[in-house]
Amino acid sequence: MTDHPELASAVEMQIALVQMQRRVQSRVPLPWISAEDAWLQEQQKAGRSLVRFKDIPLEWSDFRLTFRQTADILRRFDALEPADYDAIVTIAREGNALEPIVSQWYEATSGAGGPMPEGAPPGLEQVLVLALRPFLARCAEVLIQRVDLASWARGHCPFCGWEPEFAVITPSGDRQLICGRCSAQWPFAAFTCPFCANDERARITSFAARDGRYRVYGCDACHRYLKAYDARNATRPVMVAVDSIATLPLDAAAMQRGYA
Ligand SMILES: [Zn+2]
Ligand SMILES: [Zn+2]
Repeated sequence: MTDHPELASAVEMQIALVQMQRRVQSRVPLPWISAEDAWLQEQQKAGRSLVRFKDIPLEWSDFRLTFRQTADILRRFDALEPADYDAIVTIAREGNALEPIVSQWYEATSGAGGPMPEGAPPGLEQVLVLALRPFLARCAEVLIQRVDLASWARGHCPFCGWEPEFAVITPSGDRQLICGRCSAQWPFAAFTCPFCANDERARITSFAARDGRYRVYGCDACHRYLKAYDARNATRPVMVAVDSIATLPLDAAAMQRGYA
């Protein structure tokens, strides 16, 4: 990291976000999830996510605070435009505006169906993804005890339906994808693209960072890419916030090769 001083502010922002999320997550109770095992298995078999909106232990005053603090951090590091920030903070302040937006957005993006909330300011989704994480992560913690992910061969998160944002190559050489919303991990074939399911080995380009600690998988069908932390010879487990910053130079390399 010391050889990339220009990343200092991105690192600081990630640290601020992670610290805030940890604080919130520690006070969010583990939810009691009423879904029966048979229903969970049925959902899994159909490729549908397991966390229903009503399962998320959302205490609204706490969520409102988390939402506001997330927006504050993003604004402080210029990751949110001033006008978008103002619009987002207004939503948080208005008594009943936030709840329907959050529930609609979650339903629409978790595969439960329904339209996206209308007239949402740009940047809102980024705030929602980050603010909902500590609450959703608690659901995944509970559900992971109840389901077997070995048969889940999908590119989206088995718990919340979101896309992977990172991956880890385990000491046994398997690849686990890491959800960009709830941070849950699930096993996925190393040379299949999670975004378009392309599994033609010749059309997946994989290359390692110079130090061998990270790897990029680029898909030559949909031209998206995913980064992975190679834990095979590592001294610590994957830390997505840290690893996604440490691999910013790899993003540049991936984009140079035409991946987005
Ligand atoms: Zn998820
Ligand atoms: Zn693809």
